[in-house]
Amino acid sequence: MNEREIISLFNGSAGPGGDELVRGIGDDCAVLRLDGDRLWLVTVDTLIESVHFNIDWHPPRKLGRKSVAVNVSDIAAMGGSPRFAFLSLGLPQGFDPPWLEKFSQGLSEACREFGCTLAGGDTVRTVEGVMITLTVIGEVPADQVTYRSTALPGDEIWVSGTLGNAAAGLELCTAGDAGSEDGLLLAESHLNPTPRLGLARRLAGGRLVHAMMDLSDGVATDLSHLCIRSGTGAVIYADLLPVSGPLQRTAGKMGKDCLPWALTGGEDYELLFTAAPGQGGAILRLAEKEGLLTRIGYIDAKSGVRLAEGRPGRQNPPQKDVSFLGYDHFRL
Ligand code: ADP
Ligand code: MG
Repeated sequence: MNEREIISLFNGSAGPGGDELVRGIGDDCAVLRLDGDRLWLVTVDTLIESVHFNIDWHPPRKLGRKSVAVNVSDIAAMGGSPRFAFLSLGLPQGFDPPWLEKFSQGLSEACREFGCTLAGGDTVRTVEGVMITLTVIGEVPADQVTYRSTALPGDEIWVSGTLGNAAAGLELCTAGDAGSEDGLLLAESHLNPTPRLGLARRLAGGRLVHAMMDLSDGVATDLSHLCIRSGTGAVIYADLLPVSGPLQRTAGKMGKDCLPWALTGGEDYELLFTAAPGQGGAILRLAEKEGLLTRIGYIDAKSGVRLAEGRPGRQNPPQKDVSFLGYDHFRL
């Protein structure tokens, strides 16, 4: 079974949620009705030692911040603002107290940075390794919530920032090869990501976005989720995927192509969204100084995510299906 099949098993037996459950399983957050005008957003993410982080080289303060950041990214993806956090912490016998102090410092600094309060949690012993589960509750005006399921054929597909840095950074850290200036920058994307909270709020507030989600498993997989939820397909262009200078130079030195990192690399925590064509100017104005927003392709009524060679303009460029080529915990 892969990750999607496991989730649909639970989804199939989830039961009715009643009027208060506006959206259950399947988006970046569950959406609950708070009152007539506002919605609660709830998300949970887990980081496990030796699966999500290597305790030998992931500084504990950055890990504390990252545990909050990855959840805040899901709140941002729905257009919301984080309010409360709950930490479930599993520690092995003989854990290192100074490590824990630094982790807790990073976590509370991140809660302040993103505007939420740690309001509870749970502390348990594990057989082996550290396990961090964070639940974050956020809030969004009901008329600004942004789902994955509302993309329309003809929409342009946008991403924020650049793609593939975190995956390349993880590879360099794992190889003990992140010492160069470019390497340190890429490593930082993996160790200490920053969710696009301000940008997402402005995009949702501007109400120009049709569908939005965050990029945690690579654009090939995440866009596939967005398309399936929306009942659409998509075409993206290889030459439009934005890649950073450090990634290009690092790939060049390693004799590698940037494309697999940009297409399938996880943990960028950038925004992926769609909007009607013709809204480009207004969207770029909303982005303000948050900078780079790139159109990478368009939504259509076929099925699957197809990668076209080159950039738009060429007639019938070669295409290949890249649906779900990104990260899956259970793919062999
Ligand atoms: P994200 O990458 O945005 O955090 P996931 O891929 O982890 O989202 O999850 C996709 C959807 O499936 C979310 O709505 C999430 O709440 C739900 N989900 C994931 N695992 C489970 C599970 N074990 N039981 C119920 N729902 C789950
Ligand atoms: Mg998400």
